[in-house]
Amino acid sequence: MLNNSELIALRRELHKYPETGWCEFLTTSKVVGYLRSFGLKVLVGPNVINPKYVLGRKPEKVTEAQARALQEGANPKTIEEMGGYTGCAAILETGRPGPVIGIRFDIDCVDVDEIKENSHKPYFEGWASTHQGEMHACGHDGHTVMGIAVCSWLAENADKLCGTIKVLFQPAEEGVRGARPMTESGILDDVDFFFGNHLGLNLPTGIISPDPGIFLATTKLDAHFTGKASHAGAEPDKGKNALLASATAALSIHAIARPVAFSSSINVGTLRAGTGRNVVPPSADMQLEVRGETEEVCAYLREEAINRITGSAQMYGCTAGIEKVGEATDFKPDSEAINLVEKAATETVGPDNVKKLQLAMGSEDCTIMLKRVQAKGGKGTFIVFGSTLAAGHHQNRFDFDEDVIDIALRFYQNLIMLVAGKAN
Ligand SMILES: [Zn+2]
Repeated sequence: MLNNSELIALRRELHKYPETGWCEFLTTSKVVGYLRSFGLKVLVGPNVINPKYVLGRKPEKVTEAQARALQEGANPKTIEEMGGYTGCAAILETGRPGPVIGIRFDIDCVDVDEIKENSHKPYFEGWASTHQGEMHACGHDGHTVMGIAVCSWLAENADKLCGTIKVLFQPAEEGVRGARPMTESGILDDVDFFFGNHLGLNLPTGIISPDPGIFLATTKLDAHFTGKASHAGAEPDKGKNALLASATAALSIHAIARPVAFSSSINVGTLRAGTGRNVVPPSADMQLEVRGETEEVCAYLREEAINRITGSAQMYGCTAGIEKVGEATDFKPDSEAINLVEKAATETVGPDNVKKLQLAMGSEDCTIMLKRVQAKGGKGTFIVFGSTLAAGHHQNRFDFDEDVIDIALRFYQNLIMLVAGKAN
């Protein structure tokens, strides 16, 4: 079994080579290497990712990432097995009747450039990101190591357990893209108890929260407006102005009337249009997201936004193509799962450090997995492991307290023994 200093060294190695969503080839190759060395059954590529449900994956970026991963030491055989799709899962079948447990860890990084200053520990100690514009600024390097640690423990303690344990290493959580295709592989359909987790989130090291609070359902959309270029001075009437169409859409999207009784949010995050000062702008690109406390609120905002995009395009004689590039749903944890987590957390950190917190954390695509498990009669919750942070999530000075890795490992040992210990 990997000891704590080996786990920390591994976390730092992962931190040095972060990979953005759908590009986690080196990361997946490393994870698969560990899982196989523990003797676990491993599912890779299309066996655990249903390509039909993949959103926001750019083939040219994927090809570049594969080449880079090979250069940086990824296993060529594993890369081939992956068939272009990152992520993997380990499965321990004990051969004894018992529950099926699923645990999910996400493995991707954020599109952030890591700060190069000595006051930033990863940089000072020489394990900051070597990938320009990519950084583990959300702690998923920590999650990946927790997953490997749990697998390492599972392999050595299989004789103490019953049932089946599935550990999922999910790609592309940022942009909420990876959970749906993993869910649609069918891997969760027999799961009785399912757990997702996140570290940090403004909870200090040592605290465990068995209840996630509110997750908002969300849809991420990309819109592309097409108009017609013309000479802005000589023939402005011959053009179709995509800039004005998209700007009109942006304003009217933010003017969507919101339901009073539920939390929601709308954001047009980027808008890029036009080609030159004296040209009627022939095209525009917009990235936006909507969030709602329920799936219904989210769907309402999404449909209203789509109407405004198409309507604004029409006003200016333009057309608009709209692509869904990410999604997550709302979710209510089961009290049965919360109780189990509370018990295991109490054993791990003591009763005073188990805190049911109503965090408003935005959105998480693990909700898609949790809801699928619930739909099939299983139970689940989302756990937060406190970890004192150097800076907030997604910031270029982000770093977390590595003590959380050992805490999460001990917690999962307790939880798995509680749910699938042979004595039960
Ligand atoms: Zn995250």
